[in-house]
Amino acid sequence: MKTLGLVVPCYNEQDVIKMFYDETSKVVSSLSGEYSCEYVFVDDGSTDKTLSILKMLAQTDPSVKYISFSRNFGKEAAMLAGMKYAVKFDYIGILDADLQHSPSLLVDMLRYVDQEGYDVAAAKRVDREGESRLKSKLSEKFYKVINKISEITISESAQDFRIMQKKVVQAVLDMPEKIRFSKGIFSWVGFNVKWIEHENRERAAGQTKWSITKLFKYAFDGIIGYTNLPLKLSFFCGGLFFLVSLAALVFGIVMKAVHPDYSWALPILLAAMFFIGSVLLMFVGVLGEYLARVYTEAKDRPVYIVSQTNTIQYYLKGEE
Ligand code: UDP
Ligand code: MG
Repeated sequence: MKTLGLVVPCYNEQDVIKMFYDETSKVVSSLSGEYSCEYVFVDDGSTDKTLSILKMLAQTDPSVKYISFSRNFGKEAAMLAGMKYAVKFDYIGILDADLQHSPSLLVDMLRYVDQEGYDVAAAKRVDREGESRLKSKLSEKFYKVINKISEITISESAQDFRIMQKKVVQAVLDMPEKIRFSKGIFSWVGFNVKWIEHENRERAAGQTKWSITKLFKYAFDGIIGYTNLPLKLSFFCGGLFFLVSLAALVFGIVMKAVHPDYSWALPILLAAMFFIGSVLLMFVGVLGEYLARVYTEAKDRPVYIVSQTNTIQYYLKGEE
């Protein structure tokens, strides 16, 4: 029998976790002929009754596993912990605890990864129902920016909701960075992804755990983690300042030529100031280039990721 692990990050989800379990269990039992499923609930330092509800579920259902954090580390950390445990399964799913990710979609997702040769089946939302306008506008802008300036492409509507083959999760775990931005990581590792359109549902109960500050930090992590552009900005400013200094100089010379009694002290002074500024900024830019390389190396990402091979050198780590 094939195995499926469902990773569910939960943070203060006491109002919805039981509902989630009941609804997902129906889907899981419809799959039970072919797949043996296990839940991996990751309690991300909840301060409400989430953990005790999980313990209760685990008592009656041996397929319920839980990992509870010492404090709130954020959804990224929760997903990582869940995947680390779940990499032993053939297929690994991730879904939110608030039922915004319809468990019934798991059936389709499994079909794509198990029978149709995809490595990942992931949900793409068709709307942003149940989300504030400000939040959707901001996130739309964020994805525009990050796609323009970084090496990866993240679809604005891509969600964390997905089922992956073991090898994909292994690749994700091989990304050793500590500041994790899963949407970037999922895109960076590549593989053959089937996108499934998914209508966003309203949260079944409880409230969103993403404050505006948390979202800004998330966006910042994404941009800093996936592009070195900010480090290079000073180089561009330096170039700009150099042009301004040149313009001031030319302006002074032309004015002097046209009006012989023109005092060119000011344009020359401006030219000198901008010139010094441009030299400084360009050297900061050079430092930025070095720093960017150190940063890239320090992230210590794998240089490549193997998806398939017929050689015997390569084993998926989880199978050794
Ligand atoms: N979550 C988490 N840690 C956090 C914030 C959220 O584990 O610090 C979980 C949360 O319990 C839920 C999922 O991540 O299962 C998505 O969170 P939420 O529904 O609040 O986000 P939204 O859908 O509003 O973007
Ligand atoms: Mg939600």
